[in-house]
Amino acid sequence: MTQHIGTKCVQAGYRPENGGPRQIPIYQSTTFRYDRGESLGDLFDLNASGYFYSRLQNPTNDFVAAKITALEGGTAGMLTSSGQAAIFFAVFNTASAGDHVVVSSAIYGGAFNLFNTTMRRMGVDFTFVSVDATEEELNAAFKPNTKAVYAETISNPSTAVLDIELWAKVAHEHGVPLIVDNTFPTPINCRPFEWGADIAVHSTSKYMDGHGAAVGGAIVDSGKFDWEAHKDKFPGLTTPDESYHGTIYTQKFGQGAAFITKCTAQLMRDFGAIPSPQNSFLLGLGLESLHLRIKRHSENGQKIAEWLEAQDKVTWVDFCGLKSSKYYPLAQKYLPNGACGVVAFGVRGGREGAQKFMAALKLVSIVTHVADARSSVLHPASTTHRQLTDAELVAAGVKPDMIRFSVGIEDAEDLIADLEQALATV
Ligand SMILES: *Cc1c(COP(=O)(O)O)cnc(C)c1O
Repeated sequence: MTQHIGTKCVQAGYRPENGGPRQIPIYQSTTFRYDRGESLGDLFDLNASGYFYSRLQNPTNDFVAAKITALEGGTAGMLTSSGQAAIFFAVFNTASAGDHVVVSSAIYGGAFNLFNTTMRRMGVDFTFVSVDATEEELNAAFKPNTKAVYAETISNPSTAVLDIELWAKVAHEHGVPLIVDNTFPTPINCRPFEWGADIAVHSTSKYMDGHGAAVGGAIVDSGKFDWEAHKDKFPGLTTPDESYHGTIYTQKFGQGAAFITKCTAQLMRDFGAIPSPQNSFLLGLGLESLHLRIKRHSENGQKIAEWLEAQDKVTWVDFCGLKSSKYYPLAQKYLPNGACGVVAFGVRGGREGAQKFMAALKLVSIVTHVADARSSVLHPASTTHRQLTDAELVAAGVKPDMIRFSVGIEDAEDLIADLEQALATV
């Protein structure tokens, strides 16, 4: 029986055994006991599936990963301790030293630093292209050693909408997967695999957790990318892994599970960015109401964006659900049920006006976080994106006076009243 997305939010991923606990149990244990040493040996050799040490896998984490995998419509998924770890693992699982990745420049500041600084130090090369790039411009960014394409479905904080079909088509013509960060729309508002994306990553710290309670990340594989068809490009997946006695991931685990198994067995084993089962439990709880919250976030976002656009003291508003947005047509195509609750705008007085306006808000608070139940504001140029140069800011779609408003699930009237009194001060 096919389930709709709301039913999956509530039910997918965990089904108690007869007499078992109704809610996902928190397996607060580093390790797991076995009667026979041989059983443990089989686990270490990847010849059996099971649990032995929580750095690699933990049942609580796996139940929650299974729910997110079901929401995205993927074949395999895993949790990580943060969104940053998820992005790093997903990209590093395809590209190593000497390889190259094509990246949309409209991405989260943390992802930009990860690629442009830390992963460059690991020998991976990146070419940043505009999220608005034409097919020719995208094609021109590829090199013989390109191993992946990376972009955000809705960018943080500029809320640019990715033309997923176009980016997937170009990636596939070059024999590489499209990895998307689907944090902002979540699978409730956009399911990138249905448009050709191959791998999705998430910062679950945002809408998925939804309450600002636990930092976390997730990676989901669509199972659609044929690694074997591009064997020469992805030796890590298609040739023996000597650290597992010559296991070939694509052959042993198949197209649907190779990517996540390698990511777990190799990268999680070696980097250890595992979430605590406590945090995964909180994430699971958040996911049960994701469909309800996202609906409200999107509706509130739309109301606030429309209200802001009508104010004299507001100089510009970026929200892909507004007809005035250049992303409106793409939003209609990819996000017919709503986009997200993040609205970017500027007020009179530029940078200083933004600071003054933010300080005058009473209900809406200033926090670095985005996408939780409580409305919040942030000035990206002086916080999340402050490591970027002015040119990099422009490329990331961050204007110096940009206020990023993360619209929560309060009553829109109360939020508008707060905005109104704060605007009166500028
Ligand atoms: C926050 C965020 C990240 C980073 O996730 P963390 O959980 O903070 O590590 C990555 N991508 C997007 C779009 C984000 O908003």
